[in-house]
Amino acid sequence: MNILVVNAGSSSLKYQLIEMNNEKALAKGTCERIGQLISQLKATGKDGKSFVVEKPIPDHNVAVQLMLEALVHEEYGVVKDINEIQAVGHRVVHSAEDFNSSVLIDDEVLEICRKNSDLAPLHVPANIIGILACKEAMPNTPMAAVFDTAFHSTIPPYAYIYALPYQAYEEWRIRKYGFHGTSHKYVSQEAAKYLNKDIKDLKIITCHLGNGSSITAVKNGKSVDTSMGFTPLEGLVMGTRCGDIDPAVIEFIMEKTNWTISQTMDYLNKKSGVLGISGVSSDFRDLIKAVYEGNKRAELALDVFCYRIKKYIGAYAAVMNGVDIIVFTAGIGEHNPEVRERVLKGLDYLGLELNNELNYNVERGKLTDLSGPNSKVKILLIPTNEELVIARETQALIKNN
Ligand code: ADP
Repeated sequence: MNILVVNAGSSSLKYQLIEMNNEKALAKGTCERIGQLISQLKATGKDGKSFVVEKPIPDHNVAVQLMLEALVHEEYGVVKDINEIQAVGHRVVHSAEDFNSSVLIDDEVLEICRKNSDLAPLHVPANIIGILACKEAMPNTPMAAVFDTAFHSTIPPYAYIYALPYQAYEEWRIRKYGFHGTSHKYVSQEAAKYLNKDIKDLKIITCHLGNGSSITAVKNGKSVDTSMGFTPLEGLVMGTRCGDIDPAVIEFIMEKTNWTISQTMDYLNKKSGVLGISGVSSDFRDLIKAVYEGNKRAELALDVFCYRIKKYIGAYAAVMNGVDIIVFTAGIGEHNPEVRERVLKGLDYLGLELNNELNYNVERGKLTDLSGPNSKVKILLIPTNEELVIARETQALIKNN
């Protein structure tokens, strides 16, 4: 069975076609800068060959057409006909409290997604446009929505309610929702599988550290707390996002600058984080280089980033009454030994011991056990695969239907 996974953003559309018997990606690609003057499809297809199609992509319908043409292309294509695509799984960023798992898409589901657009106005409308464009091109192909927030629907009220007047939750639906759910779910399940243990008996802390970063406490296979909140701005320090701050800072900045609220939010979302502290970059490759060159503010940014993660690990170990496994994943989690070393340093009270030699000599793209021989807590590096989770969930839904 071939499942197409689609992740539609406001100006991009990413896809992967996954063959489910071997869970292997046959083709992948990204339509970039949709709606802008110069746009393109960058993709890999048959035999892993890369190609670029430079062409105006005025809207998502054209992007979907380009994607389908690439998939059946004479030279690069991986299927003969789009009928060989049995289902499409769409990433949808927000499910609010309406869905606690993935669903097959029908008109009612689309209507609920529209209703929830105000909770993620940059993402959900784009997700819906992507779904509609695919439905138009493949009207008879079943489609599923896989939500970033759904894995966190098991978080208990005492962890998701903010201490605002209760009306803010009831009327405006303000609460912690959490994001990166597919990734946290995938790596926690892979961790249990690797250790040959039932996830129902495990306390796992999953650190998804990418451009956006979040950390989740997974107890008995369920998310019980996560660092992102009502939006992805809360929690860890990120590439350009500030994470946790005193909300009174917002008023103070606005008074100092006369900025509008959207300028101020832009400052917190796009100019802060390790970029803001270091003044160097949001990209950890540049940041680490600057640290090795002796740049003090880059060093400080790295310290602030790692300290915040350590605080959350301590908090989540307390929340779960212990921890059996700590997982590192996503761009930074997988490729930055400096981050893993600094985060885990001084956590020996948890019974945790890092094999630091291996930490600095990891083979790319492989699940690696970084625990020292006497470590009571397993430290695992697990490459994430959000597309595969979306494809698996889509397959399960169409099988049960
Ligand atoms: P997202 O999916 O949230 O956009 P990623 O998971 O791709 O982000 O993570 C991006 C971050 O990972 C960047 O800060 C980047 O520098 C870092 N990263 C990716 N690859 C490497 C690498 N080989 N070495 C060091 N850092 C890396």
